[in-house]
Amino acid sequence: MHGALDDTICAIATPPGEGGIGVVRISGLHACDVASQVVRLRSGKSLHDLRTHVMALADVGSPGATRAVPYRTESRPHGVLDEALVVVMRGPHSYTGEDVVEVQCHGGPVVLDQLCRSLISAGARLAEPGEFTKRAFLNGRLDLAQAEAVLDTIRAKTARSLAIAQSQRRGELSREVEETRSGLVVALAHIEAALDFAEEDIAFVRQDELLRLLDETLIKLRGLVQSGEEGRIWREGAAVAILGRPNVGKSSLMNALLRSDRAIVTPIPGTTRDLLEEVVNIHGIPVRLFDTAGIRTTDDPVETEGIRRSHLAWEDADLALILLDSSQPMLESDLLLLRRSEAARALLVLNKCDLPSRISKEDLTRVCPVSAGLFEISAKMHIGLDGLRDAISSRLMPRGLESREGVLVTNLRHAAAFERALQGVEQARQSVDAGRAGELVAMDLRIAADALGEITGAITTDEILERIFAEFCIGK
Ligand code: GDP
Ligand code: ZN
Repeated sequence: MHGALDDTICAIATPPGEGGIGVVRISGLHACDVASQVVRLRSGKSLHDLRTHVMALADVGSPGATRAVPYRTESRPHGVLDEALVVVMRGPHSYTGEDVVEVQCHGGPVVLDQLCRSLISAGARLAEPGEFTKRAFLNGRLDLAQAEAVLDTIRAKTARSLAIAQSQRRGELSREVEETRSGLVVALAHIEAALDFAEEDIAFVRQDELLRLLDETLIKLRGLVQSGEEGRIWREGAAVAILGRPNVGKSSLMNALLRSDRAIVTPIPGTTRDLLEEVVNIHGIPVRLFDTAGIRTTDDPVETEGIRRSHLAWEDADLALILLDSSQPMLESDLLLLRRSEAARALLVLNKCDLPSRISKEDLTRVCPVSAGLFEISAKMHIGLDGLRDAISSRLMPRGLESREGVLVTNLRHAAAFERALQGVEQARQSVDAGRAGELVAMDLRIAADALGEITGAITTDEILERIFAEFCIGK
């Protein structure tokens, strides 16, 4: 086994705070040795003899305390912390691939903390963030893309995001990557064999076969690269900024979409000074909604900061909802906002349609691109919100919610690697066409194959691993 994996790690696996139960997990070659100093089975058996994946009742406490006289209800040994259920999952059939012991005890922070301390004094060390999953990767239980999907599964904000993360965790993306990569590797082997035979060119390889493989690979890679934009939204959520001068109803719209009262609604202009972010579920799309301070000129430094931030939010947003108050004539600040709007990234929203209108669509067409789409709503009376939701969703997912077949690229790291792979294969394809030397074709195919290998971790560096697992929580 890997030298660095010889030590035993432990961590609280359940979230901080009080809970019905709390779970501490221990993993390593010597997990049973370490845990048995802290855990005493009620059956009197040793942990080493416990059947794998079978739960047993136990007392847990400081090392030694639980090793006292055989258990008797009337005389709890001193130092016993809690009653617990314990399960041993023997490697390689465990999450990490090593022996894993999980202790379920009462979910109080003190119990869990003390239990971890006991395990540490028994020889374990506190796990680093993501270390259980990192070990699973190093022990070959899952590849890197699957390990990343574990985190996406935990973080998924909608059912649809979860389903995509789960398909990646089951290895669907990895299979696609490995299939593509092995095709390239076989082609490489042929080309290199031809080179070894000192052929001048790659005529030795069936040229038509090579071209067919490259063309197939190109189609696949292009599809994957294209799925990246939507995939990112499924994983991270789309950023949608609500823009408009004070009092047009930004907070009200945000609340209406949230169907709750998390943003403060108030009739005093300029009270939304900060960026407020909330995640809403729009047709399964996780949407990060920003309520921004109004675009307006003011001397108030706090307000100015709010305006600066709202400009930033706008620049980063996938979509902006430009809000107007239809019960008021348009003001200079409305016009300013409208002129700056880009049709592709904006929806025009006329709010307060429950009141008599003082803005005509003709006026509006004169100042801004109506191709942006125009929606009449009342945030207060909840009118027109379904239409707005549909428009947001179809703007964010122009190909529709279910249209895409096959796997989606959701992760930026993967997207960048697919991009490099695509470039490599395109380059190779051109070299074959131009009749360039086999070495050149091989070099580009090697670049592409390696880029794909980085996705699953077939090819990886400590730096990549460190960056990925640092994002996890301790205990996962
Ligand atoms: P913000 O400054 O853009 O965030 O605007 P608010 O959401 O705080 O709303 C300003 C005022 O307009 C509040 O008094 C709201 O109750 C009112 N308001 C918001 N939406 C509507 C609407 O659709 N109809 C009517 N009649 N009033 C609204
Ligand atoms: Zn507001």
